[in-house]
Amino acid sequence: MGYALATSVCFGCKRTFSYNPMRVPSIRVNNEREPVCASCVVRVNPKRIANGLEPIVPHPDAYEPCPEEELADDEQ
Ligand SMILES: [Zn+2]
Repeated sequence: MGYALATSVCFGCKRTFSYNPMRVPSIRVNNEREPVCASCVVRVNPKRIANGLEPIVPHPDAYEPCPEEELADDEQ
């Protein structure tokens, strides 16, 4: 039993951050899901609201390691 923690560069601030790949909030850019870090979620929500969009509400585990069994499909 393991945990998976994805790490990549935030689309918003270009800083490297770690996240649960199944739960992290993301925005769609050119049909790719780009993960967004917690501070950028806080930063963009007022703009989203101003533009009539729903604010992003990250999952409580969005930036925590993901239990291996919750990763999509693949092995059991
Ligand atoms: Zn960011």
